[in-house]
Amino acid sequence: MAQIFCVANQKGGVGKTTTCVNLAAALQEAGQRTLLIDLDPQGNATMGSGIDKRDLKHTVYHLLVGLAGLGEVSVKSPTGGYDVLPANRDLAGAEVELVDIARRESRLKDALTASGVGYDFVLIDCPPSLSMLTLNGLCAADGVIIPMQCEYYALEGLSDLVNTIKKVHANLNRNLKVIGLLRVMFDPRMTLQQQVSAQLESHFGDKVFKAIVPRNVRLAEAPSHGMPGVTFDRNAKGAQAYMAFAREMIGRLGSP
Ligand code: ADP
Ligand code: MG
Repeated sequence: MAQIFCVANQKGGVGKTTTCVNLAAALQEAGQRTLLIDLDPQGNATMGSGIDKRDLKHTVYHLLVGLAGLGEVSVKSPTGGYDVLPANRDLAGAEVELVDIARRESRLKDALTASGVGYDFVLIDCPPSLSMLTLNGLCAADGVIIPMQCEYYALEGLSDLVNTIKKVHANLNRNLKVIGLLRVMFDPRMTLQQQVSAQLESHFGDKVFKAIVPRNVRLAEAPSHGMPGVTFDRNAKGAQAYMAFAREMIGRLGSP
């Protein structure tokens, strides 16, 4: 059985897509069959995996509204080696169309169940909102990975997300749990970041991943080459941190 994780945080620009793309590449490289699902109409995870979002016959939109099956939508990332269910602006329309569809928050889960999912890991890149798309991600997942920057306001946003996860757990998906908080874009020279990081550890204990992703320009450059940072420059500090994170995920969950 695949382990299905949502990478979520309702804030934009916190490193969700970077985390998805690099974790997918690192897991795949470690021998784990991995599927990345792009649930954001911006299609950043799609482009960052080396797949042109403007040139797709089927996207995750078609999967959600029942116009295509998983096999028809799936594309292999030429630069990361993992499979991708890609997205583009079409997906923004799904929000409206799903209103009239039965079990609208479970469309992704149903599609994954129907296909039997021959993967070890499935990672879902969520949009920066608590929308119907994110809800589909949370309903399909076993756990949530929350990337966050160690800033004062990060903690405030966290309580909203944790409340949403609790509601989804109570009403829609009894499997759902927070797997962990991942510190990203970390700058150890900043005292505030060190303080927030220590605060996270004391509040959330082993729910805070040991791996810490530093702010690293190579990670930011990689998407413009359509590559995960992990394959773009594997010796860079950011790439090394995501590889350590992948090992931590595999170790925590037991290699399936
Ligand atoms: P989100 O998906 O949450 O909106 P992104 O992953 O797209 O966030 O990241 C936002 C921006 O920050 C992007 O330009 C990305 O390249 C950059 N970025 C993400 N992680 C890092 C990092 N560790 N170091 C430097 N830049 C990063
Ligand atoms: Mg994103």
